[in-house]
Parts: sequence; structure tokens; C-alpha cells
Amino acid sequence: MYTPAQEKEYLDLSRRMLATPEPQTQEDADKIVKDLRDAIRFHDWRYYVQAEAVITDFDYDQLFKRLKDIEAQYPALMLADSPTQRVALGLTEEFVAVEHNLPMLSLDNSYNEADITEFDTRLRKLVGTEGIEYCVEPKFDGSSIALVYENDVLVRAATRGDGVMGEDITNNAKALKSIPLRADFSKYGIVKAEVRGEVIIRNEVFSAMNENRRELGLKTFQNSRNTAAGALRLKDSAEVARRGLEAIIYQIGYAVDKDGKNVLGNGIESHFESIQTLYKLGFNAPVKELGKYTTVQQIVAHCAEWEEKRNSFPIEIDGMVIKLDNYEKQQQTGSTSHHPRWAIAFKFKARQAHSVLERVEFQVGRTGAVTPVAKITPVPLAGVTIGSISLHNEDFILEKDIMLGDTVLVERAGDVIPYIAGVITTARTGNEIPIIFPRECPSCNSTLVKPDGEAIWRCVNLDCPVQQEERIIHFVSKGAMDIEGLGKDIVRRFLAEGIIKQVQDIYQLDYDHIGRLEGWKERSVNNLKHGIEASKSQPLWKLFTALGIRHIGNTTAKVLAKKVKSALDYQTWTQEQLMELEDIGPKVAESVYDFFHTEANIQLLTELQQLGVNIETKLEEVQPANNKLDGKSFLFTGTLTKFTRDEAQGLVEQNGGKLISGVSKNLDYLVAGPGAGSKLTKAQSIPTIQIIDEDVFLEMIS
Ligand SMILES: [Zn+2]
Repeated sequence: MYTPAQEKEYLDLSRRMLATPEPQTQEDADKIVKDLRDAIRFHDWRYYVQAEAVITDFDYDQLFKRLKDIEAQYPALMLADSPTQRVALGLTEEFVAVEHNLPMLSLDNSYNEADITEFDTRLRKLVGTEGIEYCVEPKFDGSSIALVYENDVLVRAATRGDGVMGEDITNNAKALKSIPLRADFSKYGIVKAEVRGEVIIRNEVFSAMNENRRELGLKTFQNSRNTAAGALRLKDSAEVARRGLEAIIYQIGYAVDKDGKNVLGNGIESHFESIQTLYKLGFNAPVKELGKYTTVQQIVAHCAEWEEKRNSFPIEIDGMVIKLDNYEKQQQTGSTSHHPRWAIAFKFKARQAHSVLERVEFQVGRTGAVTPVAKITPVPLAGVTIGSISLHNEDFILEKDIMLGDTVLVERAGDVIPYIAGVITTARTGNEIPIIFPRECPSCNSTLVKPDGEAIWRCVNLDCPVQQEERIIHFVSKGAMDIEGLGKDIVRRFLAEGIIKQVQDIYQLDYDHIGRLEGWKERSVNNLKHGIEASKSQPLWKLFTALGIRHIGNTTAKVLAKKVKSALDYQTWTQEQLMELEDIGPKVAESVYDFFHTEANIQLLTELQQLGVNIETKLEEVQPANNKLDGKSFLFTGTLTKFTRDEAQGLVEQNGGKLISGVSKNLDYLVAGPGAGSKLTKAQSIPTIQIIDEDVFLEMIS
């Protein structure tokens, strides 16, 4: 962890390091190499643990390249914990079995209040009721790992395996920048430590990954846990680095001082304290998610709150973990051969349901892809009613052997998109009907095309009306230009009535004419006008997303937006140059290259610019943020009059604050505008939350 003052210090250091002259002596080089490593470590932490960069990618690359060059020139200065060593080790031919310092036991499960009460009663009998406290934290659904640090340096990373023996995945773990290659354990008198955690893939990253695979006609991944586990065992650590893995470290399993004496319970006294310590050491530790309680009622309430929050939380969690906080007490209770007595998992309800497949609709998307969509008997699942589910493509239907009339098992994972996990074949009556995939476009009747090796049937008619409609709907959608007041239905109506024909027309609307249309009032026209005007200043990455360039999701759009001054600059880039960018492979590079070498697209961008739409990189996309809000968390509710919700959220991020999605103890400030409802009421019941209005918020950042 870095304090705001240190953050400033390391930012200054980075700037200096970009400008210092070449070293003349080994002594010079030694000093520069140390500074460069410190600067890079700081930026890795800022980006991979704090999830926000304060340096441009370009400058970061320069720092990295300098370090690599000087290390190559002075091999004597090379160290195993240098940031350049993250992926330098290359291939792992075989994953060697290694023994954990202490077995990684699994947890006993609980499902309701009665189970937790029993757990509490049992512990009170074992250790007495005096000063009993519990830590409650989310159970991240990923792949478990154990990291060993000796003399502050990461020396080994292993999978959980069977709990006693795991596999050595050190090279691959080093590719994860959320795992520090060195950490100051010695500051706490620790000479050797084993820390434990979970390697996860954020829901957003997982969805994008699958979306991309679907586009490429590859098989999609079933869930993020297995995908993370698989990625950790890839042979090529450079490939591991590209998989969007993150390590959350939630436990010190083992820690000894120079005499081999246990530090847990003798230096670090509790689990709560060790989480704070891990965070201070630079690990991605769940400090914010951790609750500390004394009664079963409080624990149950906390678990219930998280079960509700689970669908909006950016990482998949499948339950909560309840741990006796004090180490001395933990040691008194001991463990069975399967699980520790001082901890228990609280499992969330499964997000599965049965329903019947009534019919299948074939929908044409903006790229011409025809997607089969299952219409099922509506069924409630984890808080929403589900009636439609994508069946992805013909192969998926064949592989799962899905027929009309089948009883299907519906699941909902963390990325909130429900899917069909399988067919209950034992429920078949013999009256089920096979699904026939059409060979003609349901919109324009042209013959569908499926290139060899791909899974998706496409309509290749560029004038296909549904494709055009979908392209415009995508352009205005929330994840893209986010034009408020211009939803799907309005786009369809405008197209049908000839008010718009193509994207450019959105910025040349005749508002007087619209005002005279049936159902339009002055207010709705003003809303629309305001939404369209506001979208003109969207950041460049939003425009890149909106343009619907194939294979470009939010993440790639952000990478692209940072690298140029104007979108039009990409006209001069080669595919080779594009492939040097982070996360961009040959297919994506080809698609970007083609897009910027198609006359109609350049014409579109030029026209959009003439119409006032921003096509340049905004300063805040690359500028270092400041820290006026210093990690404090914010939530906006009610009507905002001084700025839009997006702008407000941008302001929070630029000033070093965090956004959270619900009212809880983790919230520091609720910014409430007129008409605020249940969130305000809830916030008023939590004394640590400060309720402020827009003006106070603006003052905080001015
Ligand atoms: Zn068509």
C-alpha cells in the first residue's frame, strides 16, 4: 500500500526516470535500475490492485523498456524479483508437485441461521464466550493458490491440489501483476510466509472473453472458476498474462520469524489484523469486504446483505466465510482432518431452475450473425424472471441435444446472463420436436452463410434492414454512446418513419418535426435533444465501442483510444503496429485495420466530427488522476442537476474515489438529489455514511 504522499513521490520518480540520461558506470546503472523497479512496482499496484492507472500506457512501456535494456547491458544487476522477470521464464514443461507448508483444508458448509448458531455454540463451548468475534467475508469463486515468500521475495506459487500437495505454478503466478514479486514481510518480523487466496476473473472480463470467443466461432467457457484454473496451468506464462486473471489474497496461512517461531498469534493477533497487513504489503486483500461481528444475528444479516448484493458484485462469489477472528482462539479449537473448527462457509442458494422450452426465435444481429433465442416458460431465478435465453448457435443446440418441449435446467452465473446448462432427458415424453435452424435470413430472406470452421450462420447482405437497425441501436446503447431518450423502440420508429436512415442522421434531427409526431411532448423532445447533445462529448473509447468494429469490446476500445490523438490517426497504422498493443491479436488487428481502410467508415467519422461529435482522446483518458477523494466510496441517488450520472461517476474516479453500487457499511458518501428514495432511507440508518448534496460534492473536488 502507498500513502497519498508516497503516491506523489513515486509519480515524481517515474517522471524523473523517463528523463534521466543513460548510465555511464555500473554504479550509476545500479541506482537507476532500483528506481525503475520501484516506479514500475508502484504502477503495477496502482493499476492491478487499485484498478486505476496514473500513468499513460506509453510512459509505462518506456519505463519497462528502459529497465529491460539496462538489465541486458548490466547482467550482474539482474534480480529474480525484477518486474521484467514476470513473464521472462517462458514455458513450463511440467508442473511439479509440491507440498504445502500447512495443509490447505476445505471448509465445512452451512446453509441457514440454525447451522451458524450451531457453529457459534460449538465454538463458545471450546474457547469460552469471552471476547468472541467473527470475521465475515465473501467466498470468492475462483481457483485457490498458495504463495510462499522468503526474505520478502516470492519464491513459490502452488495450486491447492488435494490440499496437501499442489502443483508448482510459480512462473505463471509471476505473470499476474496483482501478485507482488516482493513484499516487506520483514517489517513484521516475518522471514517466511505462506499466503493464500483465490485467482479469479472479473465478471466483466469473463463476459468480454466469451463474447469475443463467440465472435471468433470458438467454444465459450462455461464458468470463470474453471477458466481461471485452466489458465493457471497453461504452459506459456505470456499467454497466462493475457487471460485477465487477478489474485485476491485473503489469508496468511503460515508465518514464522527468524527463529522459526509462529508469528500468527504472536505479533499478528487476528485474522482481521492479517487482512490489514496483507493490504499494507501491497496484496489485493479484501479489506473493504470484511465485516467483524459478535452475534449470530449480525452474521446472518451480513450474509443476507451479500446474497442480495451478489448479482451486482463485479466478482463471482458463491457464499460467505465466517472465521473466528482471534488466532489464539483459533489454535485452541484446532482442526479435524478435513476442515478447521474455527471457520465455516455459508453457501448461497443455487441459482438454478427448471423450465420448459416453448419455442425458438432466430434473431439477426448487427454483424449479420443469426442467434437462436430460447423462449421458455417464465421462471424466477435469483431475483429476476427469465423468459428468454440465448442458445448461441446451431452447434450449441446439437451439442446439448435441446428440443422444443424439453424441460431445461436454467442457470445464472455472476455475469448475470442466464444460460441453459442442460436438458432433463428423463422428463422427456416422446413429443419433443427437433429445432430446425433456418437457412435464410429471417429479416431479408437472403441465403445464410457459414464459413468453414465457424459456428455462426450469417446474413451477408449489407442492406439487410434488421442489421442496419441493430447497428444504430448498438450505437446509442448504454455501453456505447449512451444516448438518453433514444431507446430501441424510438430508433425503430424513427427508422420506420424515415426520420433517420443512418448513424449520422442522429445528429441532424429535425426536432420541430419530431415535436409534431404523435406521443411526443416538449419535455420528451428536450430530453432527447439533451441526450444527443451530451453524447457528443463521450470519450473516444465509447465511440470506438459504438462503431461496432468487429471483435472490439470495451477493453480493446479503451486500449485503442489511449494510443492516438484522433480516431482518424489509425488510417496510417499497419496491422503489425496494431498487434504491438496490449490484448490485440492478429484477428483484432485485421478487423481494426480493415475498418480504418474502408472509405465509408472514414467518411462517417469525418461527418460525425463535423457534426460536433468528439473523435479525439480526452485528456482525462490519459492524465494522472489526483487524490482529492482519497479512496473514499460514493454512491449517487435521486435526480442530479449539476451533472449527469456518468459525469459524476467520472469525477469520482478522476479524483481517486471509488464507486459502489449499493448502500452498505462500505459506503462513505451518499450524494442525494431531489426525489431520493429507499437508498437515502437506508443510508440514514447507517451512522458512518455521510449524506451530502451535489454542491458539497463539487466542493470536495474543487
Ligand atoms: Zn438479412
